[in-house]
Amino acid sequence: MKNENGARGGQIGLIGIGVSPGIAIGPVFCLEKRDFKVRRYVVPATETKEEIRRFRRAVAASASQLRRLNRKLARKMGKDHTYILDAHLMLLRDRMLIDEVVGMIRREQANSEWALQRAIDSFKSAFSKLEDPYLRERASDVEDIGSRILRNLLGEGEERVSGVPPGVIVVARDLSPTDTAQMVRQQVLGFATDVGGKTSHTAIMARSLEIPATVGLETVTRVAETGDAMILDGTTGEVFLNPVEETVAKYRELRRRYQRYEVELLKLKDLPAETLDGYRVNLEANMELQEEVPSVLEHGAEGIGLYRTEFIYLNRADMPTEEEHFLICRRLAEAINPRPATIRTFDLGGDKFLSQVSMAKEMNPALGLRAIRFCLRESGIFKTQLAGILRASSYGRLRIMFPLISELTELRQAKEMLEEVKADLDRRGIPYDRKIQVGAMIETPSAALVADHLSDEVDFLSIGTNDLIQYALAIDRVNEHVAYLYRPFHPAVLRLIRNIVDVAHDRGIPVSMCGEMAGEPMYTLLLLGLGIDSLSMNALALPRVKKIVRASRLEDAREMAAAIEEFRTAYDIEEFVKKQMREKFPDDITEDGRQVCLI
Ligand code: PEP
Ligand code: MG
Repeated sequence: MKNENGARGGQIGLIGIGVSPGIAIGPVFCLEKRDFKVRRYVVPATETKEEIRRFRRAVAASASQLRRLNRKLARKMGKDHTYILDAHLMLLRDRMLIDEVVGMIRREQANSEWALQRAIDSFKSAFSKLEDPYLRERASDVEDIGSRILRNLLGEGEERVSGVPPGVIVVARDLSPTDTAQMVRQQVLGFATDVGGKTSHTAIMARSLEIPATVGLETVTRVAETGDAMILDGTTGEVFLNPVEETVAKYRELRRRYQRYEVELLKLKDLPAETLDGYRVNLEANMELQEEVPSVLEHGAEGIGLYRTEFIYLNRADMPTEEEHFLICRRLAEAINPRPATIRTFDLGGDKFLSQVSMAKEMNPALGLRAIRFCLRESGIFKTQLAGILRASSYGRLRIMFPLISELTELRQAKEMLEEVKADLDRRGIPYDRKIQVGAMIETPSAALVADHLSDEVDFLSIGTNDLIQYALAIDRVNEHVAYLYRPFHPAVLRLIRNIVDVAHDRGIPVSMCGEMAGEPMYTLLLLGLGIDSLSMNALALPRVKKIVRASRLEDAREMAAAIEEFRTAYDIEEFVKKQMREKFPDDITEDGRQVCLI
């Protein structure tokens, strides 16, 4: 925002959802600015011809960029996958759009940018009024193509995440997990987005990679400009643009305190996660990228409770071969040894990597052909991965876990395929761990309710609360507008968790939790009381949770789990647990949740 003198000025405070702790202070880099600030100016009649030529050059440049992208995509994925870009190219060839803009430049002596923006707005609004949902969605194609021509008119060229300079806070409307992973390698200080929720995969990535992040800011792309100064608090969700000196000094101090707290926590690294009365809980790490292994070990993980293998697909369009799966899992097994690593077979779909894999566009991807459903349909892809994991199992302690199981038939089909792969390896004379443990993730209410059936046929269960809460409460985990309804303390969620643990323990198998809830110290005592055997979380959270465990008594935990039965609303349970936790752990659970609050 500029003041009257044209200079940037005035501190602006925004509040979003803090999804990855830490404080970033640095310059803004706007990654994607769809709403370019387009100004109108009069083009003298003598110059309209040249203005029209300028517009046509931008259209031609956009078309050639699209053709280039299209060729690249066709080479990598085949002709069938170029339909979106084909649609954009068709829009560019559409005389209606071009004629409309040219007409406006001529009639109204308008500049190209302004005329284009007006034409795009009226096309968009016409599309969005259409009944057919497919055609309605084309409004976003019009917007995309409009942004591309505008960028070319403004001489901004193509936008690429890889163009992000180091040492900046990235501001974007949204980021895909792929963008996020790429940015790590470019050493960004933090990121702030308009949209997103706490358990979106982009947020999870940020936490794993230790990048402070705030999402759901709604208007940050509108108010921030490249080069602005920014302070971002990834714990509380606060963001300050062009902060005054006082704010900078306050946040520098907070950052110092935060870093000191981290150093203190790391001293717990090699101590056992054991309560004061001798109850031992297993603390493991979640990971997405191989690069995280050193951090996982540094934070004292007792193993990997969840390896999200779908991240192998980052930045690639083809499927990994059996050999690649083998090498990746073998490297992990060896690096973690003698600790175990739980390899989750790929969970493609939902908010993950729809573009890399040839998956159809779905109306409700979270309810679509995702995770185990996709794998059972694409058995070739699934078996290739299983073969790679099994081969690697001779090099360390690996476990296999299937995501998004919703009932026994799916579990049986997945296990059957695993047996077929084992038989094939036997035929090929390749060794593997014949006693490899197999587990099911409990992420749907249906699985939680038939956890007894599932427990009879697996070695362990792992509760994926990110999805379990999403599906139980009908709250889209990536939608910032309903983020306030995403409540782990909801009595229905807690009842489901209690049921899973009870029936699994009755059948003698352990229960792990690997959703984000497991890494939030606020829930630690309650989860101990509910009987969870193993908590798996992002590496940063491990010492925080361990600190709580080591200062707790199992007796108190059980009392808390029993006491919440009396409450009927998420609000009441939350207030009760928060109050107890603040009283018991005043150094760790502060009033505003700073220091320990991760989700
Ligand atoms: C979960 O749903 O809680 C989970 C751990 O899996 P993901 O977040 O990858 O969907
Ligand atoms: Mg999940």
